[in-house]
Amino acid sequence: MEREYLIKPMLDESYKKVSHGQGVYLYDTAGKKYLDGSSGAVTCSIGHGVGEIVEAMVEQAREVSFVYRSQFSSYAAEGLAKKLAEMTPGDLNWTFLVNSGSEAIETAMKTAIQYYQEKNMPKKTKIISRWMSYHGITIGALSLSGYPERRFRFQQLLEANPVVSPAYCYRCPYGLKPSSCKAKCTGELETAIRRVGADHVAAFVAEPVVGAAGAAITPPEGYYEKIRDICDRNDILFIADEVMTGIGRTGKTLAMEHWGALPDIVALGKGLSAGYAPVAATIISDKVMRPIQQGSKLIMSGHTYSANPQSAAVSLAVLHYIEKNQLNTAASEKGKTLFKQLQKLQKKTEIIGDVRGKGLLIGIEFVMDQTSKQPFPKSYNLTSRVIKKAQQNGLLVYPSAAGIEGGDGDAILIAPPLTINDEELSELVQLFSKTIAEIEAEVLPMS
Ligand code: PMP
Repeated sequence: MEREYLIKPMLDESYKKVSHGQGVYLYDTAGKKYLDGSSGAVTCSIGHGVGEIVEAMVEQAREVSFVYRSQFSSYAAEGLAKKLAEMTPGDLNWTFLVNSGSEAIETAMKTAIQYYQEKNMPKKTKIISRWMSYHGITIGALSLSGYPERRFRFQQLLEANPVVSPAYCYRCPYGLKPSSCKAKCTGELETAIRRVGADHVAAFVAEPVVGAAGAAITPPEGYYEKIRDICDRNDILFIADEVMTGIGRTGKTLAMEHWGALPDIVALGKGLSAGYAPVAATIISDKVMRPIQQGSKLIMSGHTYSANPQSAAVSLAVLHYIEKNQLNTAASEKGKTLFKQLQKLQKKTEIIGDVRGKGLLIGIEFVMDQTSKQPFPKSYNLTSRVIKKAQQNGLLVYPSAAGIEGGDGDAILIAPPLTINDEELSELVQLFSKTIAEIEAEVLPMS
């Protein structure tokens, strides 16, 4: 065996080398075909191998690929910022470009703190987040993330920021129904603010629909309206982490547009370039930028590759592609179809406890028993069993987390490219149904 040089995330035989991708399919170097049912890490939302994105890439490279942002701006970066201001609602008019979702969150955190410094309220530095959340792998973003598996090695480095529960309706701690609960769980945010003291809190951050750490946990009606009201009453900024949900994934440019409340700062990534270039963005409202412009004028953040013209041109081409092909509408319609079919499958199996989500971001939570909602024992490794079995069957799905503490349950995300057609959608459901039947036959006799 030849020695290895690349540090890989998996060391077993299920880890394959890709050859190429086309549309919703990926092909490995052995020639096996996979339906990309998760758009990679919920990223490749326009599918693989789109010719016009490649052309935009080459066109920009012919002009200039790199400039350093303190020396030059570029048509591409400015064009992208303008496009994002047009596409996003309210006064979300300012864009700071970075390279990953984690960096977008770090910039959002720093901007919130800087906003209050400019307003002469320097004590407001705490950021409240939710348990069962994922905001990124860098230390600041990981501090905000309620994701036990990704935190535990670095616990001592992480900021002890206050956390509240997510709106996890399937396992509501109050035993209420989403249709009549009046978003009672938002009361926890009020309590957390009171305990820390509003004069110490800069922001509350949430994923509109929880992604990696909670398999598409979706809040009940009225939840974000109440959150917005609590933030306003306490003079706290609301940061929406739309790294996974943004740019059409849930059927709208921002998932927050599903509810009657808008954030002050938004983090975008993943779908922003659909995986064609490493780019992410922090979108900042006029309200937040105003005191910064009147004060120190600059946002104290940035990276060598921030506002890189090459990535910006690719992202701009992706946004035009999404608009031209009406992929927000497609996500919404295809999402409804897929959701119904997965609910049908749930009735035919014992191990799917919950199907949830919005648009083409759908979470499946697995349980031993649909009535008691008891999770599988850890030793079953159910999530990784499902991922591997699906992969053997030629379907890629994304691992997630579930259970009361976010670490003791099993779940996956299904989030195919928004370009998926009806035939491919049926194939996805058929491959997933086959996978579930095989898993059920394997694990139920074990219990
Ligand atoms: N926030 C959310 C909601 C995410 O889903 C992710 C990535 N899974 C991140 C932040 C971090 O993004 P990145 O991996 O690009 O740093």
